[in-house]
Amino acid sequence: MAREPIVHGGQPEDADEQRRRDAALRPKRLREVIGQKAVVQRLEIVLNACKKLKEPLSHILFDGPPGLGKTTFATVLPNELGTGIQMTSGPALTNPKDLLPFLTNAEEGSIIFIDEIHRMPRAVEEFIYPAMEDFRIDIILGEGINARTISMKLKRFTLIGATTRSGMLSGPMRDRFKMHEHLEFYSEAELSQLMNINARKLQTPLAEDAAVELARRSRGTPRIANARLWWARNFATSEADGNITLDVARAALSMAEVDVVGLDKQDRRYLETLIGVFSGGPTGIEALAATMNLPADTLSDEIEPFLLREQFIIRSPRGRLATARAYEHLGRKKPCDDVRGTLFDMSE
Ligand code: ADP
Repeated sequence: MAREPIVHGGQPEDADEQRRRDAALRPKRLREVIGQKAVVQRLEIVLNACKKLKEPLSHILFDGPPGLGKTTFATVLPNELGTGIQMTSGPALTNPKDLLPFLTNAEEGSIIFIDEIHRMPRAVEEFIYPAMEDFRIDIILGEGINARTISMKLKRFTLIGATTRSGMLSGPMRDRFKMHEHLEFYSEAELSQLMNINARKLQTPLAEDAAVELARRSRGTPRIANARLWWARNFATSEADGNITLDVARAALSMAEVDVVGLDKQDRRYLETLIGVFSGGPTGIEALAATMNLPADTLSDEIEPFLLREQFIIRSPRGRLATARAYEHLGRKKPCDDVRGTLFDMSE
């Protein structure tokens, strides 16, 4: 099943629209990056060191749920170094030869960025090991008895990998990254700051309390915050005088079916399915995905991380379980409460 773009102001939108917005609002320099303070500090140190030592940056792996800034960090670093970046993704590299142009075009100190690196086939992974370690690749020419291997020297590049599933990366691949940075969800204060900065970029007047409200309902995720802001701007332009006031922000979010804690239709559908169809679980992700008619990856990468963090669900060895908070949020009664209530009534 194809992966669907899912992050939006509440409205369905295509992947191109999302990409355009990401590109327009993406910070260019490290000092413009909001939050992730410890990550920024460590990157400043390695950037400083590699400039002084005149060495390329070590290979870096960023992991974390979608929209938290993995690509942003990868694209900010070459700007800090004054080098170029080539971008590709794991699913696009089906064969080792797909990597060749990137490796051979890499300039000294430049960056190759591989998004969704956990989806790279094993053969491509193995091909990249010597390139990462010794900056050389082994190419086999000819076939059968006439085959011979030639070793080709490469310029010293930096590989930046991004993954939503570091656990799916093989051990040898993970070990070849000298830096591993895990990105966390953002606080409301950080997302409010992002709202204010990006509203200025979009030349949209945004009231302080509206920024806080939009931030609070953005699931701790900058990409979602940008989508909510984008939608609120359209809403304010069409339905009001163009100013995003608190009332306008609330009306925009309500029309987008984003609820008070920031869950959208898809998130609530997940909880409804878990509770309504599977009696709150435990249930396996494949069964949930099949019932919702969505790929299991979409559930585990894009919907579940925030629901887990906010304790709407828990992941047990037997499958996903809805918590009391999930029942309460949907205005439903937990079945065991009903049973306890009945027993209690009977004993009275
Ligand atoms: P990922 O690669 O993790 O899916 P991105 O780096 O593409 O996420 O982030 C999506 C958008 O969110 C970016 O275009 C950018 O506008 C915004 N963003 C992400 N992280 C930050 C950050 N730390 N500071 C400011 N904006 C951010």
